[in-house]
Amino acid sequence: MTDAEKLHAVGAGSDEGTKLRQLEGRIRCYGNRKRVYVECTVSEEHGCIGQESLAGSSGLVHQSCHSCGEFVAPEREHLVSWDNAAEELGAENATFSCPACGIVWQEEDRQRQLQQSRVVHRDQTIDRTGTVIGELPRSRTCGFRYSAAANSFADVAMIGVEEWRAKRAVDEELAERELMQWTWAWPPAARKKVEEPLEVSTLMQRQSVLSRGTVLIRFTAIWNSIVRQNTYGQSLKRVVAKNERFLK
Ligand SMILES: [Zn+2]
Repeated sequence: MTDAEKLHAVGAGSDEGTKLRQLEGRIRCYGNRKRVYVECTVSEEHGCIGQESLAGSSGLVHQSCHSCGEFVAPEREHLVSWDNAAEELGAENATFSCPACGIVWQEEDRQRQLQQSRVVHRDQTIDRTGTVIGELPRSRTCGFRYSAAANSFADVAMIGVEEWRAKRAVDEELAERELMQWTWAWPPAARKKVEEPLEVSTLMQRQSVLSRGTVLIRFTAIWNSIVRQNTYGQSLKRVVAKNERFLK
């Protein structure tokens, strides 16, 4: 199942629970031997993928630094050499640095390291030989998170440019949300600006503070002009007559 959070909503014509739960229900006959493979970006903290991960084994992909030998899992703050670029292409010099020793990784180093990566689950550790130490969490849900540093399909130069562009985006908040969700696999912060679609009819209503049939004093000069020139003025004249308190 891909894009799982969209399937974690109850369908309009169904009282059976979410699509995700329905699918699990269909294979209950397999008991603990059942397997459901689920994948998603993290669109919100309390979405299904975030909750499943928290409730499950909460693994994280680690890779061995070619310099210091420690198994590490770099995050956003370990992406360097992009933010001082004066131009977009300068941000292509972005690179990851080792959280343990600080050495800057060449892209070929990172790609090679990822061939020997390990998943370390919650409350486990990993030594320099790549041996994971500690018991697996007592959960039937095996979950792990991987983000840009552990993604061999994501080119580090491209990630640097995306960061550079997001910092200069007109809607910086939206760009930041996209980066958090798609690149760093963390739930983005809730939007500060809430936008609602604006209909033409709504806009027209907001332009007028007067109810229908009300004419302000300053319109009388215009009315005098209209009334002499066309029949529309006659109906306007009747409207004004009903609202004399607004007239001089
Ligand atoms: Zn290192």
